[in-house]
Amino acid sequence: MQWFSLTATFLQFSGLGGFIANLRKKVKKNFNELALRNGELVKALQRIKDLAMRDELTGVFNRRFLMEAIRNEKLRCDRTGIVFTLCIVDVDHFKQVNDQHGHLAGDQVLQQIARTASDALRQTDIFGRYGGEEFAMVLTGTTSEGAIITAERVRRHIEEIDFTSISPGFKVTVSIGIADSLGGEDPALTFKRADEALSAAKEGGRNRCLVAP
Ligand code: GH3
Ligand code: MG
Ligand code: MG
Repeated sequence: MQWFSLTATFLQFSGLGGFIANLRKKVKKNFNELALRNGELVKALQRIKDLAMRDELTGVFNRRFLMEAIRNEKLRCDRTGIVFTLCIVDVDHFKQVNDQHGHLAGDQVLQQIARTASDALRQTDIFGRYGGEEFAMVLTGTTSEGAIITAERVRRHIEEIDFTSISPGFKVTVSIGIADSLGGEDPALTFKRADEALSAAKEGGRNRCLVAP
């Protein structure tokens, strides 16, 4: 009788062992699937974040991100006194590029300009596409004296881009308007002053950088 109940208990336990091993296998499989899904979700979230802050054509920051960055820099400036300079970069006679070489070539020019300008800046600077053929640079911790050196470097590097793939000897230039962040000034006003400097640079003959008074 004792042997019988011992054997029955043993059989019950070995059944339970099998059940637990099976459960473990299932939990492990579900865990792996969840980890995979989690990885996919993280990637999707990053993609959404990128779409929200990057310009689709050029990959640099978009207008929304730029405006937020300028607002943040202004707040930092008010709090800590660390200044920044805003530069607006506008491609010269860009309409002619489209008219003479086609819209696709125009897009290619914008992409190359965005790459070249980004490469010419510090990692802490912010560069983005403001709209159409206009870009903006937010040079942090920099006054207009330093900014003009950076803007000149960007202008020169763009002038040196070889667009032979579009047409032999084809070159593109930009004009740049520069404005210091003034203490207490609304960022919209800083933008307006940079835009006025840009207009003056255009009137002055294009392919140049000008600082707002
Ligand atoms: P300026 O030297 O005075 O700046 O002259 P501009 O020809 O560069 O200025 P304008 O404002 O007359 O023309 C801008 C052109 O930029 C017109 C528009 O078709 C073109 N453009 C805007 N966005 C894009 C784009 O995403 N791709 C292409 N290929 N062209 C664009
Ligand atoms: Mg323009
Ligand atoms: Mg233009």
